[in-house]
Amino acid sequence: MSIVEVGGTSARPGEKKTGHFKISERPDGSDISLSFTITNGVNPGPTLLLTAGTHGDEVESVLGVVRFTKLLDPKKMSGTVITVPVLNSYAFEAWSRGNPLERYHFDLARIYPGRSDGSLTEMIAYRYLNEFVPKANFLIDAHGGGNTTYIHFPYAIYQGSSEADIDFAKGMGPEWNFIGPASSSKGTLSGAALERGVTSMTLELGGSSNRLPKPYGENVDLFVRGLQNLLKHLKMTDGKPEYPSSWTLIERKEPRMKNGGLIEYTPDCKLGNAVKKGTPLLKILNLYGDVVEIVEAPVDGYVLALPGQPVAYPGEPMGMLYTVIKTIS
Ligand SMILES: [Zn+2]
Repeated sequence: MSIVEVGGTSARPGEKKTGHFKISERPDGSDISLSFTITNGVNPGPTLLLTAGTHGDEVESVLGVVRFTKLLDPKKMSGTVITVPVLNSYAFEAWSRGNPLERYHFDLARIYPGRSDGSLTEMIAYRYLNEFVPKANFLIDAHGGGNTTYIHFPYAIYQGSSEADIDFAKGMGPEWNFIGPASSSKGTLSGAALERGVTSMTLELGGSSNRLPKPYGENVDLFVRGLQNLLKHLKMTDGKPEYPSSWTLIERKEPRMKNGGLIEYTPDCKLGNAVKKGTPLLKILNLYGDVVEIVEAPVDGYVLALPGQPVAYPGEPMGMLYTVIKTIS
């Protein structure tokens, strides 16, 4: 193995080094930077770049990346893992999807490849894509339900359609048996990475309405177990990876709410429930109790995610449904 250098920090083989990569400065003169860790294994192997906190409110994967990084032992590793728990620090501090102070580009997950002379969010995308992504063979952009939704089960969305692209998602192991192709790569980190030859996927789990200690802790643990299985799958650590007996390939749909108001759920609106196209899922009431909208299932499918809070905001998704493309082994 050789010395790995990224973001102005270098790590020798067998070393774990932390660093800060400066993006810009706040008005008070303090740095806006990315905190990251390079774990450089003693043996040669691929480089995995693991990113979370693209959306600042998706904290299961942020804590998961922090905990996973602590558990890495470079003396027992082949290849390199570069971990970045929070990509959008302003959004993370505000516990918000995007940076609430950003007037031009709120959502970091829609603006890749970014711009060197753009808004702050565009600069983060540009600097990350050009400094960190070129070092990687594999990239994970870890997300979650955030403040707006709760996701029923963890799943991996892979970019591309080759066997190698799908194989990367399969590496997450038995608890990640729902995977699927990305419906769009436009503006996303994983899409931009694939265009640069980096095998990429997005991970999703958890969310706001299920963050009491037990379910929150279980989701973080499940995330870490998946990543540890993936390292075995990529032959970066010793041990036998585990797999489910089959994987269900899914496609996601996001019905949107046209109006704001109070949400009343129908009896069919339950996580995991099978629903027919046209089934009423929720009613939106105004403050006089009148029904202003009924949100229906747009397809025959299953309820995958529900709103994080029972107040509708116009244009927000009501959660998610999924349909099954096929089962593979
Ligand atoms: Zn997200």
